[in-house]
Amino acid sequence: MFLFNEILLLLNKMKKTAIIIGSGFSSLASAAYLAKAGIDVSVYEKNESIGGRASRLEHQGFNFDMGPTWYWMPDVFERFFGDFGRKVEEFYKLEKLDPAYQVYFGVKESIHIAGRLDEIIETFEKNEKGAGAKLRSFIKEAESNYDIAIKDLVYKPGDSILELVSLETAKRLPLFFKSISDSVRAQIKNPNLIQILEFPVLFLGAKPSDTPAFYNFMNFADFGYGTFHPMKGMYSVAEGMKNLAQELGVKFFVDSPVEKIIVEDGKAIGVIIHQKEIRADVVLSGADYHHTEQLLDSPYRMYSEKYWSKKVFAPSSLLFYVGFDKKIENVEHHTLFFDVPFADHAKDIYDTPAWPEKPLFYASFPSKTDSFFAPEGKEAGVFLIPIAPGLEDSGTQREKYFDIIIDRLESLTQQEVRSSVLFKKSFCVSDFVSRYNSYKGNAYGLANTLFQTAVFRPKLQSRKVKNLFFTGQLTVPGPGVPPALISGKIVSEKIIKLLKL
Ligand SMILES: Cc1cc2nc3c(=O)[nH]c(=O)nc-3n(C[C@H](O)[C@H](O)[C@H](O)COP(=O)(O)OP(=O)(O)OC[C@H]3O[C@@H](n4cnc5c(N)ncnc54)[C@H](O)[C@@H]3O)c2cc1C
Repeated sequence: MFLFNEILLLLNKMKKTAIIIGSGFSSLASAAYLAKAGIDVSVYEKNESIGGRASRLEHQGFNFDMGPTWYWMPDVFERFFGDFGRKVEEFYKLEKLDPAYQVYFGVKESIHIAGRLDEIIETFEKNEKGAGAKLRSFIKEAESNYDIAIKDLVYKPGDSILELVSLETAKRLPLFFKSISDSVRAQIKNPNLIQILEFPVLFLGAKPSDTPAFYNFMNFADFGYGTFHPMKGMYSVAEGMKNLAQELGVKFFVDSPVEKIIVEDGKAIGVIIHQKEIRADVVLSGADYHHTEQLLDSPYRMYSEKYWSKKVFAPSSLLFYVGFDKKIENVEHHTLFFDVPFADHAKDIYDTPAWPEKPLFYASFPSKTDSFFAPEGKEAGVFLIPIAPGLEDSGTQREKYFDIIIDRLESLTQQEVRSSVLFKKSFCVSDFVSRYNSYKGNAYGLANTLFQTAVFRPKLQSRKVKNLFFTGQLTVPGPGVPPALISGKIVSEKIIKLLKL
């Protein structure tokens, strides 16, 4: 028995070790894959809880997902848990939303997007003669792009342009050189339907006019697979992934901000947390890429300030988490307010950064579906206005925009809600910086424009420091929760290869 314990101890000592910085979805995914490969993994998160952008806010009996609220691409989550011989439903419960969402275009003028494609086609036909058939063929093309992109291309590490070259991508070459905006407008004329078809690519962080038409696979994610709600919210997905990782032996440490990555002889050998040195064979960071490089002495950084300043970042956001003392009428779980032209707002986000005059906004009322979010008879509302990263976000500015969205909500949905606001909490650019160490307070990373896709994105592996890796929304494949899971997988494969396991 004594000998057996000694051998176990020795084997444990010989185990390769990995430190993971941050506990967002990409870190959680990579933690699970590395542990499965036999690596001793420790995750260090600066905040009080895990989940990164998907933090949960609890207040006066209300709950709010602070970041992501749309659960799209269920196949990516199934594939993740499937890699461990497990099923999604062992970790959290999913509900398909029907209607998936509602889009307002004017006072009491809105379109409901159903949970089934056939019904969406009928809606399109009702709004524009002939648009139903056009939508059907558009979604068919989107589905075939989805099969190529999400089932294959996005799982490539972005090391070489050759990863993108195949017979299938060659056939679709023109789709990389025209925008999704042009491709939608060539088929659909009704401005409301155009806005609906341009909405999904906003998740990729750039303007539809700057996003290649190939990315219409997001439309298949939207209309083909549909929108799901994980019961108790997106944080429950992060918790599920953490539970899986813990079962595999991963250790989690919160309130543990990494202050420095230690490099010796050109190799990452550990980190400093609370002035204490912690060593490992490999360091992987899921924190924002730019911030991670600040944890290195400048000769070890791959990308200069100039490099980052020239990149197209996904927007930041002004968010409000609001507890209402009554149920809100005429809105769905996900409701988009597209009653003003997007072009002007997009200019303020991407071209000449400024607070928008007439912002589009999004609202989520998860308590419509899930009683976890609000006490009985009350409603939890999350409001999001996309804005340019780096803007000043004073308290008066936030108040001004709260008034704007409440006025618009009241007039578009024809009801009084202001007197029912029990509390509101806001979150904006400076909070993204202080809570997540986010570059210029970006909300969801580096946009997926053509020249910020795959091989053109910041690398998963440092070229200047051995055994240092990166994952998450600023590297491959891009912004969003499903891409974060994929990023965690592909970086783990690189690490496992390096450690020859
Ligand atoms: C408001 C908002 C709405 C969104 N909506 C959606 C949506 O509906 N659907 C969707 O799919 N995606 C959505 N996204 C995008 C999605 O949430 C992100 O792309 C994804 O969660 C990013 O995961 P990540 O692992 O890359 O990084 P993060 O979640 O940012 O995780 C990085 C972690 O690193 C930690 N960290 C930073 N510095 C340090 C340090 N020095 N030491 C230790 N830890 C550190 C941070 O605290 C954080 O926990 C949204 C994002 C936001 C902000």
